[in-house]
Amino acid sequence: SEDVIRTDMIIIGAGPCGLFAVFEAGLLGMKCHLVDNLDKIGGQCAELYPDKPIYDIPAVPRCTGQELVDRLMEQIRPFEPAFHLKEQASDLRRLEDGRWRLETDAGTVLEAPVVVIAAGAGSFVPRRLPLPEAERFEGTSLFYAVRKMDQFRGRNILIAGGGDSALDWVLNLQPIAAGMTLVHRRDEFRAAPDSVEKMRRLVAEGRMRLVIGQISALDGEGDRIRSVTIKGTDGTSTLVPCDTVLAFYGLKMELGPIAGWGLNLDRNLIAVDTAAFETNQPGIFAIGDICTYPGKLKLILSGFHEAALMCQKAFKYCFPEQKLIFRYTTSSTDLQKKLGVA
Ligand code: FAD
Repeated sequence: SEDVIRTDMIIIGAGPCGLFAVFEAGLLGMKCHLVDNLDKIGGQCAELYPDKPIYDIPAVPRCTGQELVDRLMEQIRPFEPAFHLKEQASDLRRLEDGRWRLETDAGTVLEAPVVVIAAGAGSFVPRRLPLPEAERFEGTSLFYAVRKMDQFRGRNILIAGGGDSALDWVLNLQPIAAGMTLVHRRDEFRAAPDSVEKMRRLVAEGRMRLVIGQISALDGEGDRIRSVTIKGTDGTSTLVPCDTVLAFYGLKMELGPIAGWGLNLDRNLIAVDTAAFETNQPGIFAIGDICTYPGKLKLILSGFHEAALMCQKAFKYCFPEQKLIFRYTTSSTDLQKKLGVA
């Protein structure tokens, strides 16, 4: 159909290794589309440690996780990569002509001769409420993210969690909600002090409730929540009437749909050869934390090397009639033109 996006290389995962793959691919004339189910670029560096310093990137004595991502973005800008964020790569199949067709959970369809899996430890997904009845309410009265704020106007909301997401949504939704309760397992918060202070002021003014404890049960009718039971640290239970629960317990990584793509797996990692980091499926490569081979080190610098070698073979799938000539960026005007510096 007309909605299919055709490109040279589909990269699953916009972490540091997927980003550097765009650079190596770009030097060889290959265009890339990246898919990541996070709402931001940078994988673990951006999601788990944006402010922590990294000391072992070659020739960069020190930079934070976010700085590394920003520098990679600057380095790949000349190659104009396309990003599909907040989309999970869900279905991968081979076309009759040997190329691959990837579909995301948002319905985006991409086709390319090369697919690079740079998926780290898998998709970042929200930690769910560990209660058997939770699934029944999911999507109608229990949510793990806010897509459209207006959906929650006039609702009697209970928010669970103690980090920035929980506090930000308490403050943003309180003015439009019919009622607001925040539940956290202890009376200390990881969120920005300013947000915590604003929340405490709303509680003092009687405009919302703060309950310390853990959600122990959800009650309701059909898929509609009516009330939530909260168990305090002293063992007492509190029943909070509400019609909407938003839980922000942070993110975890899980392999997800990739497990069903017929790739050789070794304990949730994808087995590759070390000549080209190709999987058992021709044209599908795996680089970065997700790949495994004898001697593999889960370091960013290893993923950079894997990206460079992977592209040498990917070139053959993209341009079967062309000969690949080895060139340096320092001396090749052809490469410098691609980089926009010549
Ligand atoms: P990731 O960074 O994990 O990114 C993978 C991305 O793929 C994720 O954003 C995920 O959402 C996405 N994804 C997965 N599956 C799908 C799918 N099906 N659809 C869509 N998207 C998907 N390394 C170092 O070298 N030096 C350090 O000092 C260092 N410090 C660290 C400190 C901490 C606290 C942590 C947690 C890690 C550290 N690491 C360090 C490890 C380093 O962050 C990883 O090696 C690196 O992030 C791996 O990069 P990647 O591109 O392979 O994958």
